[in-house]
Amino acid sequence: MGDKKDHKKVKAPKPYFKDVWPEGDEPATPAPAPAPAPDRKPATKMGRMALKKEGMMANIVKGHYSLRLHNVAGDFTSDQLHAIADTATKYAKGKVHLTSRQSIEIPCMDVTALDAARDDLEANDCTTGLCGPRVRTVPACQGMTVCPWGNIDTKAIAAEIDRRYMGRVLAGKFKFAVTGCHNDCQLVEARDMGITGGVRVTWLEDPCIQCKICVRNCKHDALKLEGDKIVVNYDNCQSCGVCVHSCPQDSWGFERIYTMTFGGLFKTGNVRVGREVLPPATSRKQLFRVIDATIDWYDQHADSKRMERFADTLERVGWDDFTEYVRAAYDAED
Ligand code: SF4
Ligand code: SF4
Ligand code: SF4
Repeated sequence: MGDKKDHKKVKAPKPYFKDVWPEGDEPATPAPAPAPAPDRKPATKMGRMALKKEGMMANIVKGHYSLRLHNVAGDFTSDQLHAIADTATKYAKGKVHLTSRQSIEIPCMDVTALDAARDDLEANDCTTGLCGPRVRTVPACQGMTVCPWGNIDTKAIAAEIDRRYMGRVLAGKFKFAVTGCHNDCQLVEARDMGITGGVRVTWLEDPCIQCKICVRNCKHDALKLEGDKIVVNYDNCQSCGVCVHSCPQDSWGFERIYTMTFGGLFKTGNVRVGREVLPPATSRKQLFRVIDATIDWYDQHADSKRMERFADTLERVGWDDFTEYVRAAYDAED
């Protein structure tokens, strides 16, 4: 091991994880035009399916509904939470339910209260969610703007997916999830399409003090200290970013990458783990080209009469067909 430098005297380079959406990396493909706002009928004149479509699901008690709120990446402001609590108290039983996909539902609301409850919520910047065969709420972990292990801006990606596709009608429900690192707090392989943040790393010699923290923390046996140099075995490296985030000296350069998994499905008796059929995307433009192609392919091939889920369409039509389609999007020029 080489001489250790006094790390207090070594000036760390500027922090790495400050950019939120780097200029020039906006997705190139245009977002689909938003669907026109439906003329809202009084809830008492809407059938159960129409109410469900707008995020009001029938409860076991006849005439009672759960009102689901629109949400992106699990974030609500404190003002929204106050408004939701007030609405639950005023129009329902004073309880809310936190859903498995990071949304909030207000259960036990009489159908006659739904319109006034929605009006109150909308006045406080809370809109209703949705249900049924369409692109659903986009959950995401905290990602790099909050979590010290985050490799990508999960919330910005979730917001862009939501802007493009939330509510898009498809043959079956379609669930995205975005997670910031290999800890996979969002269990993305269980979703129709999952996105996981990673980094391709390069050791930077100058700031390194040979403390070996990165070597000890790498769980994939990819780092060695040889003399006074850290050597990366790229065959073993899984791009998890732990070396970058644990280094006290910011002694790593890196490129963000987006691992994509397709066709996950977790229903009792019908469990599929999402597969990686492409290399990770290296820009958000590329990521969104693949996302757009994925939705297109599912829309073109799924059997809507059977409300076929993406995983089942992939099995029926064939993974090769899908892979060829998204590969073309992956390889396209920006
Ligand atoms: S997946 Fe990683 S970045 Fe996201 S919250 Fe978990 S530890 Fe943090
Ligand atoms: S990115 Fe992860 S796997 Fe690769 S060298 Fe760093 S800690 Fe090891
Ligand atoms: S964690 Fe690794 S790269 Fe960072 S200063 Fe220590 S030995 Fe060098």
